[in-house]
Amino acid sequence: MNILVTGGAGYVGSHAARWLARAGHDVWVYDNLSVGHRAAALPGRLIEGELADEAKLRAALKEHSIEAVMHFAAFALVGESVTDPAKYYRNNITATLSLLEAMRSAGVAKLVFSSTTATYGAPKQIPITEDEPQLPINPYGFSKLVVERALADYAHAYGLGYAALRYFNAAGASPDGDLGEDHTPESHLIPIVLQVALGQRQQITVFGNDYATPDGTCIRDYVHVDDLAQAHLLALEKLVLGKGLHFNLGTGRGYSVRQVIDACRKATGHAIPETLGPRRPGDPPELVADSSRAQKQLGWKPKYPDIESIVATAWKWHQSHPQGYGKRSSQE
Ligand code: UDP
Repeated sequence: MNILVTGGAGYVGSHAARWLARAGHDVWVYDNLSVGHRAAALPGRLIEGELADEAKLRAALKEHSIEAVMHFAAFALVGESVTDPAKYYRNNITATLSLLEAMRSAGVAKLVFSSTTATYGAPKQIPITEDEPQLPINPYGFSKLVVERALADYAHAYGLGYAALRYFNAAGASPDGDLGEDHTPESHLIPIVLQVALGQRQQITVFGNDYATPDGTCIRDYVHVDDLAQAHLLALEKLVLGKGLHFNLGTGRGYSVRQVIDACRKATGHAIPETLGPRRPGDPPELVADSSRAQKQLGWKPKYPDIESIVATAWKWHQSHPQGYGKRSSQE
């Protein structure tokens, strides 16, 4: 298929674009490089553009005879969404509506959408199934939920076939060490801890130890970025026009912040000093997936089922790319 990957120079998008290309699809990346990296995009396949530029998107869809879109382009930081919600409303909601309109006018009716566990808010039932009520507690989660609702309406009214993939915590790097996580500034737990191991930071600050969890720190379900990439391909193959599919993507194992830091200590052999800080606004105490629907209906099986195997790939990436992809792509 001819596939357009928005945000294909970003963390999850770049892994998915490569996965799709390796599966034999004809893949184009659409990215404004605001957080993505030129070096992470498929060589010779990058279209630089704004998601909000509906005319440019429509032209790209037509020029490359696109049959399906994978939509990754979004801001995805819980804390930032609390302090700067306008950024999330504008990009994650308004610009996504431009994409949907561009698709409609270009006759592209298939979409795989990066949704998130943050749409569930602070769920009552752990592990979380797709039937858990979606009651987000931060603007990031809300922005993704709005898009999910729009997709359902577009499916009903215009025949869109879509899958909303609700990721838990994307982590790790491609096993060959070519692609990995590189945000500026970095705010995610595993890269920050590994930067301490590399001597680039003094310590890791644990955001709160008074949650109602066994060691008091937040529990998350870390899922390997290539396992997410594989799920996108499987979901694409199952799309049905006029229908929506919804899948939780996590390993089903929860690890506390302290357990993640310990796993990084083991992987790196570094002491990794830690200090305690206040809770980060918008953080729910525990998020662990029940992914049995994805496993049954998509045949999805994570290749990296535990934190040790995920951290091992991340460590390989950070060691071989201590400065990430290098200077910001927009300055290249
Ligand atoms: N976290 C932390 N210190 C940091 C960064 C993150 O204690 O410097 C915690 C954060 O509060 C959350 C977990 O690590 O409980 C995972 O955070 P991350 O930002 O990696 O992913 P998120 O859960 O926000 O998607």
